[in-house]
Amino acid sequence: MAGSSGLGVEVFVDALDDAPWCPHGPTLLFERFYQEREARRFFACSAHRKRSGCSFFQWADEKESSAKRAMRMEIYQASRTAEVPHSTLYSGVKAALEKPTKMASVCANCACTVPQKKDPAHKGHTVVESLPPADLLRPTKFLPALDDSKSNAQYLFAGKAVSCILGQLHGQGIRHVVCIGAPRIHEAITSARFSKQAPLSSMSSFLLDWDRRFASFFSPRELQHFNMFNHHFFSGDTGLASLTKFLGKVSMSEVAVVMDPPFGGLARPLVACLEWLYALALEHCKDAAESTKEAPPTLNKSASSKRQLATIWVFPYFLESQVVETMPSMKMMDYKVDYDNHPIFTSSGKKKAEKRKSPVRLFTNINAGLLVFPAEEGYRLCKPCQKYVSAENQHCGKCHACTTKHGPTYVHCEACKACVKPGRVHCVTCKQCLPAQHDCTGGVADSEEGSAATAMPACHRCGKTGHKRRHCPDADTQSRPSAKRVKKSKR
Ligand code: SAH
Ligand code: ZN
Ligand code: ZN
Ligand code: ZN
Ligand code: ZN
Repeated sequence: MAGSSGLGVEVFVDALDDAPWCPHGPTLLFERFYQEREARRFFACSAHRKRSGCSFFQWADEKESSAKRAMRMEIYQASRTAEVPHSTLYSGVKAALEKPTKMASVCANCACTVPQKKDPAHKGHTVVESLPPADLLRPTKFLPALDDSKSNAQYLFAGKAVSCILGQLHGQGIRHVVCIGAPRIHEAITSARFSKQAPLSSMSSFLLDWDRRFASFFSPRELQHFNMFNHHFFSGDTGLASLTKFLGKVSMSEVAVVMDPPFGGLARPLVACLEWLYALALEHCKDAAESTKEAPPTLNKSASSKRQLATIWVFPYFLESQVVETMPSMKMMDYKVDYDNHPIFTSSGKKKAEKRKSPVRLFTNINAGLLVFPAEEGYRLCKPCQKYVSAENQHCGKCHACTTKHGPTYVHCEACKACVKPGRVHCVTCKQCLPAQHDCTGGVADSEEGSAATAMPACHRCGKTGHKRRHCPDADTQSRPSAKRVKKSKR
């Protein structure tokens, strides 16, 4: 969101119960740091990181008048009232699924079914014909992926990533999945169930996504229009009731969450969304009363004693600290997640030379020792670590771990007492391993995509430019451990 103002650094502060609402539900509280002035707090959209996506802005110290609040609520309500009801959108596919032998046609522009004969309403549109009904349940195969704005960016899993994720979950006895921004996982389960294709046919899924086009393909019983950054249902109580009903039919140990948020997304609101979902499951799952408050042995010992659901959170390796600091039960796995439509990180890109290894990983609270990643893609069991690691990841006897994060084998540095990226040299001035060409002022240009250095030139602690957080002169006097920085979307 609003990270683009050239004035200073903006950090996420909190989600407040009485926060004002923008058209995307309750806003979040942020704080903006200036070079010469006092920091100032403001409310802004939870989901849009650019003001061009959502223009809402409210200084926290300028109280929103009741008239303004009422007007904003009206704007929110008006955009909901203007929406075609979910049941109406779904009626075409519903009818098609009832005639499983008949082929159907869909318009990719309008995201709806169209009668077989040429329909003038869709003149000039991309109409996909002769789809067997089961394919109607895979809308991401024919709808153009949203990539117009960074907040909406849809990067779709390659088939082998879907198989790997679902294979792991199925292997852990998971039979029901809540997909948050993971339509390909939802589709795989839903279409396998429809065409009775083992082993996924025994699974069920619920999709929470903010792409409303999916409402034409999935019923309100399995899809709700949702904002993961404030866990807001755009259909209000009906949306919540629908998810509650789904949870009511399943037992806690058989349900998992798969979440693939936009990479610019803030970790803390996402963790808040997961915790909200865990609490909902604990209240409504059919065995919730008997199920202990402690997580089952298949999951990592959570930092909190709160009961978590098995969770897979798909996020880039360079945001590991954001995930792990906010949710210590999540561990990063070596498995590299490939995408079908990512401009660079695709598994079958035509320009082989440009093809790079995916920076996207699975973060999970499932015990790493229980996950088996495909040997044919180079993953192997590291005996000392008792987990599957990538081919390049060499075990370091001194660190007692397989240390690479992004692929290339790391090199152990005796001075740092840690493994470091290959090509780095130990600098006695900086007391760390850095690229040989660095200038010892802390302004190291790190070439890693999405690294703090390239995404945010100012210090994340004080907002001033010229040094990074670890060299901040204010470090001892003023610390802001809970405030997560706003990063620009790098996806
Ligand atoms: N790799 C996934 C898709 C990830 S793209 C797959 O193949 O299934 C991110 C997804 O999150 C998209 O489907 C997008 O519509 C959805 N999304 C983006 N912002 C969201 C938000 N604020 N709340 C809920 N869903 C969101
Ligand atoms: Zn908004
Ligand atoms: Zn059309
Ligand atoms: Zn080492
Ligand atoms: Zn140096």
